Amino acid sequence: MAVNKPQNEGARLDNFWMPFTANRQYKTTPRLLAKAEGMYYTDVEGNSVLDSTAGLWCCNAGHSRDQITDAVSKQIKELDYAPTFQMGHPLPFELAERLAELAPADLNRVFFTNSGSESADTALKIALAYQRARGHANRTMFIGREQGYHGTGFGGISVGGMVNNRKAFNSQLLPSVAHLPHTLDIERNAFSKGLPEHGIERAEVLEQLIALHGAENIAAVMVEPMSGSGGVILPPKGYLKRLREITAKHDILLIFDEVITGFGRVGDAFASQRWDVTPDIITTAKALTNGAIPMGAVMVSESIYDACMNTAPEDTIELFHGYTYSGHPVAAAAALATLDIYRDENLFERARQLETEWEEALHSLDNLPNVIDVRNTGLIAGIQFAPSSEGIGKRGYDIFTRCFYDGVLVRASGDIIAMSPPLIMESKHIDQMVSTLERAIKQAI
Ligand code: PMP
Repeated sequence: MAVNKPQNEGARLDNFWMPFTANRQYKTTPRLLAKAEGMYYTDVEGNSVLDSTAGLWCCNAGHSRDQITDAVSKQIKELDYAPTFQMGHPLPFELAERLAELAPADLNRVFFTNSGSESADTALKIALAYQRARGHANRTMFIGREQGYHGTGFGGISVGGMVNNRKAFNSQLLPSVAHLPHTLDIERNAFSKGLPEHGIERAEVLEQLIALHGAENIAAVMVEPMSGSGGVILPPKGYLKRLREITAKHDILLIFDEVITGFGRVGDAFASQRWDVTPDIITTAKALTNGAIPMGAVMVSESIYDACMNTAPEDTIELFHGYTYSGHPVAAAAALATLDIYRDENLFERARQLETEWEEALHSLDNLPNVIDVRNTGLIAGIQFAPSSEGIGKRGYDIFTRCFYDGVLVRASGDIIAMSPPLIMESKHIDQMVSTLERAIKQAI
């Protein structure tokens, strides 16, 4: 039986068509958050809810940080908006420089967007523009991966591999996309700690796809270094390096979607650095502004930027792409304040230091009923349950609601519970998350 606890009876809930939500189910038992500070939300009834998900993988520095809210209010009073088409203001230039300092290798050129979805589509478009600029106009195909999530634009859902996100729109997806197999292998890797041992051979499928479609037709391979929305699917040891070797051998771009792995989530600025694999393009969003203001960024290598610049006459627009809010001053101010916090509080390093404690606490759940896998890397966890006889996803949803009414926000994706706490987390928060989950798992359907 799912836990039902009506909240906020006075609120009018009809008009908002909620994203990625079972609207009718939610509206019968709404869960409404009113405030947030540090590690905690407070709901509209005044209950405190520990945030084990950093919102939606966004609030890596914890909630409602004064430095960010102050920077935002100061900026909105000073310069609320300024265009960045043939015009500019200093903040995105400063932010791009700061991001270049954090980025791996020479991924120094930064294109600003407003979300992860826009970052994904921007990266795909830059890949096509680059291939055309360097005289490889036939390279128009993309290779994504099953269970991959790159947001909800048409590019992102085409290259992504989430069945439900594609099937309603199937007739209108990008025409030439192939997919690698995902790397989830519970049979061989269940309950592994950190990156799984088995599965590097799945990277070899890339060679087969390239042989089938022809390297001369492929623009880019796009994957999340660690697939979050697809169910916390970790890269097997050596797998990402193999993707890099194969793409380099065939002169194909490698794009890492680091929308959730960026900004300390796996104990380094980017997963690319933690796992020592340098792609040609990195997409980001979410924790770039600590979730406070929407913003995304796409970081590309010098050679991609140069190819686009050098093939166009100096007085023409080199890339016909952009958003009204690219480099928005208020978002940029939020991002700069966020990056200051990450640096001043050493939060990426802190994530790495907490990793072992986090891992050990999570694996105390290994032997509970219906738990078929516990996986972790950085400050990320995926706990997978056998589906209940009531249907796929019912047990995951039941555990999610039980945790919420017991004071901990987790995320359910089917029968997988995902956690990605703010990097400011302390031991007492780990204890609360794990003991709450334990209770929920024991009582669940
Ligand atoms: N890429 C990845 C890897 C993501 O996890 C997400 C969001 N969960 C996105 C892209 C899309 O981001 P947004 O919702 O900001 O468009």
